[in-house]
Amino acid sequence: MFNINEVLHNYAFYKAAMPLFAHVERTGCFYMIYLDNSATTKPCKEAIAASLFAMENEFGNPSSLHKAGFAAQKLCEKAREQLAAALSCDESEILFTSGATESNNLALIGTALAKNKRKRTIVTTAIEHPSVDDCLKSLESEGYIVKRLEPVDGEYTPAQFAEAVDDDTFLVSAMLVNNETGLILPISQIAKAVKKKKHDVVFHTDMVQGFLKLPQKYVTPDIDLISISGHKTYAPKGIGALYVKKGVRLVPIIHGGGQQGGIRSGTESVPLISAFGAAAEAANAALKENSKHYKALKSELCKRLIDIEGVTVNSGNSCAPHIVSISVYGIRSEIMLHFLESRDIFVSSGSACSKGAHSHVLDRFIQDKLAADETLRISFSPETQKSDLEALAEAIIEGINTLAKQR
Ligand code: PMP
Repeated sequence: MFNINEVLHNYAFYKAAMPLFAHVERTGCFYMIYLDNSATTKPCKEAIAASLFAMENEFGNPSSLHKAGFAAQKLCEKAREQLAAALSCDESEILFTSGATESNNLALIGTALAKNKRKRTIVTTAIEHPSVDDCLKSLESEGYIVKRLEPVDGEYTPAQFAEAVDDDTFLVSAMLVNNETGLILPISQIAKAVKKKKHDVVFHTDMVQGFLKLPQKYVTPDIDLISISGHKTYAPKGIGALYVKKGVRLVPIIHGGGQQGGIRSGTESVPLISAFGAAAEAANAALKENSKHYKALKSELCKRLIDIEGVTVNSGNSCAPHIVSISVYGIRSEIMLHFLESRDIFVSSGSACSKGAHSHVLDRFIQDKLAADETLRISFSPETQKSDLEALAEAIIEGINTLAKQR
């Protein structure tokens, strides 16, 4: 019996077969134009090779005292070095976690526990990811005060944060790149302004959507804690990290075997850690080139969308080039998303994390409340090509024509 899966697994066959399979080579799937890289990225070949190597060869427990444990430990150390190089910090300042949700929880709750309610105020933005915002809500329910700053004219300034920080503030948390619109916050200047106002405030930033996408210095002297996630940067899901500046104290939120200096107990996932290290090294090497590529893609996409009646681009010049939020007048996000899916083009509605729920973040950037429910997020990877965007623009036009008739 002819089994298409078996045939597809034969790389040599489909590579040689016909141009039809070009997408298979790029995406690993049939005819898929994947434009949802802010939800998750495809693991790169370096990450896959590193995790396979760890699983096949070094399956020991890194805490074991024998050679197999030592070999596994060495792989974790290598990954720590690779991440430290990408962040420009010391290896000892990296903690591995299960993802950025855990990194954010550890950063915020761990800092609150370390400060032991001597001070109670936390300053943050009104547009944080739920893994920050819901974490802060849980602290609020325990008596902490959370000040959520609103964007002013669609942006955030360092002065806003400095002004909000007072004698009771012990923690400031602000994201580098917003996951729904791509808005970039001037994080190093914000951290500087905060520290200038109160030097003992702990500064945390969720860099998930900016790390290894924006070519800039991630670790700067005023930043104490940085959350990052493997699956947004070409490593698998289930792995993340927290940069903890030397001397910054966190109280653990996971208790157990005392791994990673007792701050994050739990046997390290050597394959995932190795994959994260390898992916970070590869993405760091390609950072400048990829960033140029994203800029070219964004400008190509905007050029194609500008003439389509009813389409508005919500991500302006202050937004990162790899995330483009658009609204399609009169067509709900999920309807257009599934229309595009029927053309094998995958995007997300607003943010993948809000699962179709109305977005409080988009409300803050889009004047028309209805348009927030008509928003799609298009996000690029190094593999995205201009022809993908041409196909997207054509499919959006087709979608508008088809779906408008059904209204
Ligand atoms: N922060 C931001 C800005 C994100 O976009 C995400 C993922 N959507 C997270 C945190 C959570 O990351 P993870 O999936 O690794 O838990």
